[in-house]
Amino acid sequence: MTRYEQRHRWLSLLLDCYALIDLSVWQAVDTASDVLACREGCTACCRHTIPLSTLEALGLRFYVHTLLDAALYQDLRRNISRQGSLCCFNHQGSCTVYALRPIACRRYLVTGTACAEDESPLDSRPHAVLHPSRDVLRRAVALTLPFYRTIGLKPESGEDVLSFYLRQNMPLTSLNERIFAGESY
Ligand code: SF4
Repeated sequence: MTRYEQRHRWLSLLLDCYALIDLSVWQAVDTASDVLACREGCTACCRHTIPLSTLEALGLRFYVHTLLDAALYQDLRRNISRQGSLCCFNHQGSCTVYALRPIACRRYLVTGTACAEDESPLDSRPHAVLHPSRDVLRRAVALTLPFYRTIGLKPESGEDVLSFYLRQNMPLTSLNERIFAGESY
C-alpha cells in the first residue's frame, strides 16, 4: 500500500489505526480461555449490522475502486441488491476487502463453537465473545483525528475520542451505494 499512502495521507492514518486494533485483537486471542471459533468461510457475523466511520468508508471506497479487478467489482456491486442481510463484500464465503475491513469486523471474534447463522453471541453466550482492549481502541481511533480535522470535524470540548468515533458511525449497508459510486477513484 506504500505507493498509495504517498498519494493519500488519510490511508496511512487508517492503516495505523487498523494495525493497533489488530494487535489488541491478537492480545485478546492469546489470553482467551478457549480456542477461536472464527474460520474462513463462516459468514455469520457478516450478517450483522456493521458500524462504519467516514474514514473507514473512504478506505472501502478506495479499495473497491483501486484494488479490485473489474469483474469482482461488478459482482460485489450486484451483491448489494441480492445478498439480503449478508454484507455485499462477502463473496463466496470470503471477505473481499479483508485488508481494509472495518474496525467492527476486526474486533468481533467468538471462541468455542462457531455461531449459528442467526445467532447473536453477545446475547446467547457473551462469555464466548472476545473483548479486545477498549483503551487500545481509543488510542487507535485517536490516530485518525487528523483526517477528521481536514474535513472540519473534531471531538466537542471535553468529548472522549471514542465517543466522537461512535457518534459519527453509520451502518455499512447505508453507505454501500456511496462506496461503489463513480467509475474510478
Ligand atoms: S467487511 Fe468483510 S468481514 Fe466485515 S461484514 Fe463485510 S464481508 Fe464480513
